[in-house]
Amino acid sequence: MRAFCFHAKIQGMTVRMRHTSSHTKNRRSHYKVRVMSAVKCAKCGVAALPHKVCQNCGFYKGREVVDVLKKLTKKERKNKEKELAESKPAEA
Ligand SMILES: [Zn+2]
Repeated sequence: MRAFCFHAKIQGMTVRMRHTSSHTKNRRSHYKVRVMSAVKCAKCGVAALPHKVCQNCGFYKGREVVDVLKKLTKKERKNKEKELAESKPAEA
């Protein structure tokens, strides 16, 4: 009786195609690390990712999207405002 149950379990298993190490390597040949491209932010001139909000000033496509000063302390905010004011000539 026990042997019969074991046999039924085996029948339920899936049948797989032959999978060689070569097949695995062929598939993985397309996996590679790409070099991240960076563009200069039009607002502040810092290197930023293309099509992403600038992490330094929070601007995207000429308008402010993220308020970068919001989470800073009073002292940090003062320094950041000063830093952003200095980088303004890049816009003009
Ligand atoms: Zn920026």
